[in-house]
Amino acid sequence: MNRSQTGASSQELLARYQAAFMPNYGVPPVALVAGQGCLAWDADGRQYLDFIAGIAVSSLGHAHEALAEAVGEQVHSIVHTSNLFINEQEVLLAEELRRLLGGQGRVFLSNSGTEANECALKLAIKYGKSRGRGRGGRGYFVAAENGFHGRSMGALSLTGKQSIREPFGPFALDVRFVPYGDAQALAEAVTGECAAVFLEPTLGEGGVVPPPDGYLAAARQICDDTGALFVMDEIQSAIGRTGTWFAHQHDGVRPDILTLAKGLGGGLPIGACVGFGPAGELFAKGDHGSTFGGNPVACAAALAVLHTIEKEGLLGNAAEVGALLKDGLAALGHPLLAGVRGRGLWLGVVLAEPVAARVEAAARDAGFLVNAVQPNVIRLAPPLVVTAGQAGALVDAFPSILDAAKEG
Ligand SMILES: *Cc1c(COP(=O)(O)O)cnc(C)c1O
Repeated sequence: MNRSQTGASSQELLARYQAAFMPNYGVPPVALVAGQGCLAWDADGRQYLDFIAGIAVSSLGHAHEALAEAVGEQVHSIVHTSNLFINEQEVLLAEELRRLLGGQGRVFLSNSGTEANECALKLAIKYGKSRGRGRGGRGYFVAAENGFHGRSMGALSLTGKQSIREPFGPFALDVRFVPYGDAQALAEAVTGECAAVFLEPTLGEGGVVPPPDGYLAAARQICDDTGALFVMDEIQSAIGRTGTWFAHQHDGVRPDILTLAKGLGGGLPIGACVGFGPAGELFAKGDHGSTFGGNPVACAAALAVLHTIEKEGLLGNAAEVGALLKDGLAALGHPLLAGVRGRGLWLGVVLAEPVAARVEAAARDAGFLVNAVQPNVIRLAPPLVVTAGQAGALVDAFPSILDAAKEG
């Protein structure tokens, strides 16, 4: 089972990938063919402990029976209805999300994170127009430097990371960027002409950078004072990753619009945009849509994820094992280790030198999948089912991984 289905070796798959695909991802170093929990196997049968979970996506780990059953049952029942017809799974999922959000919010279902943010943007544009904001009639937007909101043209225009946005500018939307975590700068940037502020509760692609205490509450206040919508991009942080269903719950701050994706489907493609209060009622019939959005298979997967997180106590596991992992790494006292930041099972291991790519490769050689999210930061985002023993295995191996990276 833990081999490629066609018998191709890793080396062969890498070569064929290079010939068949556009070069936008480069050539990934490993071809994964199977998994079980936090374990994953490559095409040569090599075993890894997965500490990145497909970028915070595989929340239940690999091959979880509850997910397999839910998806299998749904595929045998009805795979697709389109939005010309209601499917029961989408209704159940929207209700479940509302329950987790205190019985509030109206939901739009998408297939990805960037699409969830496109929905939020269209809501914000409608809101700006209805309020006569800005000379263009829709107002401007504020987002964070080094923030990440996606790759489609609307979401990309909100993305602060220069290397990603620069090649595709200029953009049609007026987006103004502020340093993340600086409440004063945010207050100065947001006026009565601003339609919406887009923020992550912690920068994910930026290197798992939490804001100072009180920043999200200050952002909420600034939006309340100016009438701008507060859009919280929880695409990476939600669904238990930080030990609570949503990261913003740590701060007791409620956004006007919340976007979700990555961990929600446990690996099936699904995103959601939730509007609270008036923000949930902005669209008129025909304003937005998606052929695949609300797909019953993806919704069945998401329901299985939410139910399993509850049944298996995975919020508590994320908090506990996350703390063990963070404290264990922080206590290593290795000269290449500058610190560990983040919360729950969402950590940034900060290196004293920009050698994250070498640490990622050394970890892989030692049998651990991690991610060099920034030149000097390793991101850890294992499945929520990761055990204390598995976290301990990474902590134990980390000094020699760092040594190997230093020598490499
Ligand atoms: C991954 C991510 C996105 C984009 O999601 P896709 O599914 O890749 O389109 C947007 N915002 C944040 C915070 C993310 O982490």
